[in-house]
Amino acid sequence: MPIHIENEANRCLTCKVPMCSKFCPIHTPVPEIIKLFREKKVMQAGEELFMNNPMSAICAIVCNHEAQCRGHCVLGRKGTPVQFYEIEKFVSDGFLDRYRPENIEKKDKRVAVIGSGPAGLTAAIVLARNGYDVTIFERKNEIGGMLRYGIPDFRLPKSLLARYQKLLKRLGVQIRLNTTIGGALRIDNLFRDGYSTIFVGTGVWRPNTLGIEGESLASVHFGISYLENPGHHELGKTVAVIGMGNVAMDVARTAFRHGAEHVMLFSRDNHATASSHEMSYAELDGTEFIYGKTIRRITPEGPIFSDSILDEEGNLIGVKSEEELVKADSVIIAVSQGPKDKLIMSTEHLEGTSKGLLITDENGMTTVEGVFAAGDVVTGPLTVVHAAEAAKKAAEAMMRYMEEH
Ligand SMILES: Cc1cc2nc3c(=O)[nH]c(=O)nc-3n(C[C@H](O)[C@H](O)[C@H](O)COP(=O)(O)OP(=O)(O)OC[C@H]3O[C@@H](n4cnc5c(N)ncnc54)[C@H](O)[C@@H]3O)c2cc1C
Ligand code: SF4
Repeated sequence: MPIHIENEANRCLTCKVPMCSKFCPIHTPVPEIIKLFREKKVMQAGEELFMNNPMSAICAIVCNHEAQCRGHCVLGRKGTPVQFYEIEKFVSDGFLDRYRPENIEKKDKRVAVIGSGPAGLTAAIVLARNGYDVTIFERKNEIGGMLRYGIPDFRLPKSLLARYQKLLKRLGVQIRLNTTIGGALRIDNLFRDGYSTIFVGTGVWRPNTLGIEGESLASVHFGISYLENPGHHELGKTVAVIGMGNVAMDVARTAFRHGAEHVMLFSRDNHATASSHEMSYAELDGTEFIYGKTIRRITPEGPIFSDSILDEEGNLIGVKSEEELVKADSVIIAVSQGPKDKLIMSTEHLEGTSKGLLITDENGMTTVEGVFAAGDVVTGPLTVVHAAEAAKKAAEAMMRYMEEH
């Protein structure tokens, strides 16, 4: 039965040292929001949530609540923790279309934001709200990044992104779609054209490969490529997914919704990296989890595995020599992602780690003066709330930088 959010708000103890806020990566002021909500100051609560976290309406839906706010509620020690995110969802959803930016003092400085995932959107909103003239450059034909092309619609309705797009318009943010920076236009060109600072939030879009034979067969796909356009794939009835992270869970659940009848997820050790919630939903959808299998190669008939040799903790320490074919109509590889290297290749002095992630200082500034970065392109694949938190900090540092230069 769905909870009633007023009852839920009334259960909150409004702790003096709220563990929910402490373990929320963007430190949402939970007790303050609850107090405003109880006083029926819902729009004020919405504004406070939005000012702290422009992605609040999205985080309330997709955060790993068990590991963050809900999982640390003190009421959960002996009973049922408060489901604050349901209150956040109601409040932030109601606020989104009603937000009217007022009394913004224009700064007469132009800022470029590369990428329109949660990092780019957060940076753009924070900067525009503070009077900067913001242009977003997005290589796809729609905004949202992994919110649109990764997280499936049945978990996060895409209509939310259209509402964010309207909000950006009200803030005066300009959006240039179908424009890859590092292609025809480069970071140098943006400085040439008068952008004072540049924010990079380009995420991680290059699927990791397994480096095994068979990866280029017609029946093999990468997880994030499949999720981008599941309707354009014909997976057949039996699908083998290599990997047991959150992306693999979304792949499995999406495959079931597009006609698959048997979806198996394989892990080479005894662990899954997905959150327990995502796993339980995938299990309810009918996914089969198979542990301790190391992939050897992929054939048109399906993947070939050997049994893994595991230590007492279930970690991989070796692989047995016998091989076994698992019959499948298609194979999906979902073993994480890394960044594409267009920006590093096209920008002098822009440095990355050995994995191609951008190197930044404590203010989020990259190795190029005036170019800041945050989100997955800096940390590797994390979460929406982590991207929003880092982008907010970087946007604040950009504003300090622009005041000084
Ligand atoms: C399948 C899947 C499910 C997930 N589920 C969850 C979840 O339930 N909860 C959660 O919190 N997180 C989840 N995540 C993670 C979350 O989506 C990411 O951590 C987050 O989107 C990262 O934000 P970002 O802005 O750094 O990058 P992205 O969202 O990747 O956005 C980057 C944007 O930059 C654009 N871009 C890239 N290069 C260029 C360029 N050179 N020029 C112009 N534009 C460019 C891209 O097109 C994209 O729009 C999931 C991820 C995936 C893949
Ligand atoms: S932002 Fe995420 S972790 Fe923080 S309170 Fe909201 S739902 Fe919980």
